[in-house]
Amino acid sequence: MHTYEMNPAGTTDIGNVRSVNEDHLLADGDLFAVADGMGGLGHGQVASRTAIQSLHQAFLDDPTTDGLAAAVQAANRAVCERAEAEPAGPTDRGGSTDQAAGQTTDRTMGTTIAAVALVTEDGVDRLAVANVGDSRVYLLHNQQLRCLSSDHSRVAELVRAGELTEEEASGHPERHILTQALGIGPDIEPHMASVEPSAGDRVMLCSDGLFNELTTGEISELLTTIVDPSEAADRLVAAANERGGNDNITVVIVDIA
Ligand code: MG
Repeated sequence: MHTYEMNPAGTTDIGNVRSVNEDHLLADGDLFAVADGMGGLGHGQVASRTAIQSLHQAFLDDPTTDGLAAAVQAANRAVCERAEAEPAGPTDRGGSTDQAAGQTTDRTMGTTIAAVALVTEDGVDRLAVANVGDSRVYLLHNQQLRCLSSDHSRVAELVRAGELTEEEASGHPERHILTQALGIGPDIEPHMASVEPSAGDRVMLCSDGLFNELTTGEISELLTTIVDPSEAADRLVAAANERGGNDNITVVIVDIA
């Protein structure tokens, strides 16, 4: 039994430019996730769906923080297995710069994953967070928006190294190049975080189709002012589409009560 109750809402949208939606989302019980697939011939859809299904199944076996970390590893193995079973095709995440670094032509698919789970450890509820790639998890607490995930992208690494500012990174032509993704190889190092939630907190998971169109300030404004989680998710997606909708857009909002 958890102390807190999770009230989720989620939506995914193809955007204005792409011909397929390669994002997938999960909002089930205490587990919430977003995956953003890449790969031509429909492989991006397969990768993100496979990752979400595998993560879900594995987490149900061990609904703890360690279980979430293990579930991300299981999702990676599942996507790698699917990739090996598919014939190689042209990689197409919709843009020529959009690929995982180190990806070779025989890798047919890959996907990001960002996940949040409500777990109870030593009688205390915690939010366990995991991510690989550049899908994100944010926490809105006391009207302050904080990113709990860590992008595995070349540009994010340059920001962390102090070589680029956040502002320079936001419009950077190489911002889509990932340094880690599921389905590329057996060795991944998910970013993990853990926070103690409070009643009234709001968690948001999203794919890069949201934060590449909207500033953090704009996202924060909508999350702070729109009370209903379903309406907030829809309005965020609509706002990203109004700015261009250059990628698939996925938003999951979880209100904690
Ligand atoms: Mg994307």
